Amino acid sequence: MKKIAMFDTKAYDKKPFDLANNDRYEILYYESKLTPQTVELAKGADVVCAFVNDDLDQYVIEHLVQMKVKLVAMRCAGFSNVDYPAGAGKVKFVRVPAYSPYAVAEFAMGMLLCLNRKIHKAYNRTRDFNFNINGLTGMDLHGKTVGVIGTGKIGKIFIAICRGFGMRVLAYDLYPDPQADFEYVPLSRLFSESDVISLHCPLTEQTKHIINKKAIEQMKEHVILLNTSRGGLCESQSLFTALKEKRIGGAGLDVYEEEAEWFFEDHSAKGIQDDTLALLTAMPNVLVTSHQAFLTNEALQNIAEVTLENIDAFFAGKELINEIV
Ligand code: NAD
Repeated sequence: MKKIAMFDTKAYDKKPFDLANNDRYEILYYESKLTPQTVELAKGADVVCAFVNDDLDQYVIEHLVQMKVKLVAMRCAGFSNVDYPAGAGKVKFVRVPAYSPYAVAEFAMGMLLCLNRKIHKAYNRTRDFNFNINGLTGMDLHGKTVGVIGTGKIGKIFIAICRGFGMRVLAYDLYPDPQADFEYVPLSRLFSESDVISLHCPLTEQTKHIINKKAIEQMKEHVILLNTSRGGLCESQSLFTALKEKRIGGAGLDVYEEEAEWFFEDHSAKGIQDDTLALLTAMPNVLVTSHQAFLTNEALQNIAEVTLENIDAFFAGKELINEIV
């Protein structure tokens, strides 16, 4: 039986994978992330299955090749953590391009509603029997402008949700969709006219720090920024300063530039050694969540099914429709 070494696994991964696997592969579940220090755990495996914060750098890939791992199956859409050229021609890479764009788009809207209407603050107050509503004023979303950067699968669903709220949509994409029924504008206009900005593009060399000091200076005062895409899209220090100075009114951050060291684990006993992240989580106008926008039952089931289908296709010598090339 072919062996899959699955890294960075949690209880919520195991159930859908066991169900979808139906005993056709031996799956070795490792809680550790895949890093240069843990790569030896993949010895004897035919396939390595990794997630968003595993570190598939050149060293790790070369070791996987030496250990005769044949396939790296990413169980996520993004692959900015994979140095796939390091394995070119020696190992194949596949991914799950879409598992539930609804999960992420709905979560982004959830963050917006919570931040705007200060539901997180109200929740804390009423738990203490403090029924005072001073300081909880928000704005109507109806009639406000939302700027959406990246109009792929998730961005388009987020746009549809925002339209349901009666919002005006401005969009920016490197590859605008000619069929789109919303308006594409240059980034500078999106920055200067939007009351809410939501990021739905991948992390690439072009998009790294797309939200930086210069971009923030062009934005409306009190804009709400949502990042459910990748942490590296925002330059964290500039974002923190703008939030502190109230130039940015609120931020919903499901991802963080240096999240790999902290997210998905419980650090409540020891605390964290990342001052910017600690300060961001402590700000009343910031919601930090731990890369959980994808986390719905439907998404987990799709991730398991498509990952195993990718692996089936590889061993059957079929075309790899989800190959990372
Ligand atoms: P997608 O590939 O369908 O859409 C991405 C869009 O970004 C495309 O339209 C593309 O043309 C555009 N784009 C590429 N480069 C750009 C640039 N330089 N400037 C502007 N736009 C650019 O991807 P998707 O499924 O909609 O996912 C979007 C992102 O969401 C992913 O890249 C991933 O990082 C993130 N994501 C996060 C979670 C989570 O749990 N937080 C889960 C899934 C995906």
